[in-house]
Amino acid sequence: MFNQELPSSAYIHVPFCQHRCGYCDFTLVAQKDHLIDDYLAAMEQQLSGVGEDVELKTLFLGGGTPTHLSINQLQRLFNAIFSHFQLATDYEFSIEANPLNLTEEKIDFLKQAGVNRVSLGVQSFDSNILTFLERDHQPQQVFEIVQRLQSRIENTSLDLIFAVPGQNLENWKTTLNHAIQLNIPHVSTYGLTIEKGTSFWSRQKAGIFDLPEEELAGEMYEFSLKFLSSAGLKHYEISNFARPGYECRHNEVYWTGYPYFGFGPGAASYLNGKREQNHRSVITWLRRIAAGESPISDQEELSPEDRAREAIIFGLRRRIGINVEKFAERYGYDLYDLSQSAIKKHVEAGFLEETKTHVRLTQAGCLLADTVVIDFL
Ligand code: SF4
Repeated sequence: MFNQELPSSAYIHVPFCQHRCGYCDFTLVAQKDHLIDDYLAAMEQQLSGVGEDVELKTLFLGGGTPTHLSINQLQRLFNAIFSHFQLATDYEFSIEANPLNLTEEKIDFLKQAGVNRVSLGVQSFDSNILTFLERDHQPQQVFEIVQRLQSRIENTSLDLIFAVPGQNLENWKTTLNHAIQLNIPHVSTYGLTIEKGTSFWSRQKAGIFDLPEEELAGEMYEFSLKFLSSAGLKHYEISNFARPGYECRHNEVYWTGYPYFGFGPGAASYLNGKREQNHRSVITWLRRIAAGESPISDQEELSPEDRAREAIIFGLRRRIGINVEKFAERYGYDLYDLSQSAIKKHVEAGFLEETKTHVRLTQAGCLLADTVVIDFL
């Protein structure tokens, strides 16, 4: 059955970027660096509720762009974190980074601070695609930065985007090929989606661009599976590929239903079966903490069945799928009692497969995962 252990994972949200990219709907502010000191003070306050010497196996700084902060600002944030947490011997400490922020000095600082995994927002090795996505780097710079980074912090992941207007299969193949030439041990690939409220949303509505046809997007995804696997990066989650031993341990915590702390605007925590989410507005989050009010905007106590259903949704994202016996032991429900008809429907359609021990998505199912999992809610 579900146990109520204390989290050994923490997520810290750093909501600052130089510019809000046209497709991005994350919790962040751009061109508001005057708020960074207030943010750091608020983080010190939020973290003070944790206690002391809580051991973390995984720590993840995401954003926004954590590396947008100066070394002094990062040092202040790390001081606040490590006043309450300590890293376990075999820890994973990840930070999301924008390539152009990674000067030699900043890489050295991150390494000395204990960061041992960097997730780089590269997105593409095609300069036209990068311009379209409103990114500030060029492909040639990424080659130099990745080499510089990997000489200090070898565990590097690249985020790459496909199905971008103007992108064809050849562009995408070239981008993946560059990632492999750089000997990257972890790659995350995301199809571009246009979210309401972004500037891309308005531009698409105004007919300024169209997304590539679904068929082409599917071909790009299928090519990623084939190409990255043949290069030794195992497809271990719908969007993620890694060499053995380089899977992101922090994300595995989310996907396997273990508890975690979350700090910063928009961050969620999951403690004792209760999910709490901080306010997504950076300004409101800051204001609430400064006023001594709770920054939490939503909370939800998950019933045992909710936990089990959520475990199915996340479990199906992992290529290994759901171990039927372990699922019953941990959640107290038989997978087939909860989802008999959904499993039958998607096995018949070729989107799910059953092994002796697991139920998992097929390759075709990975393409339509969002549609498939709806039937398990
Ligand atoms: S750099 Fe990343 S987090 Fe910042 S606006 Fe662009 S996509 Fe969003």
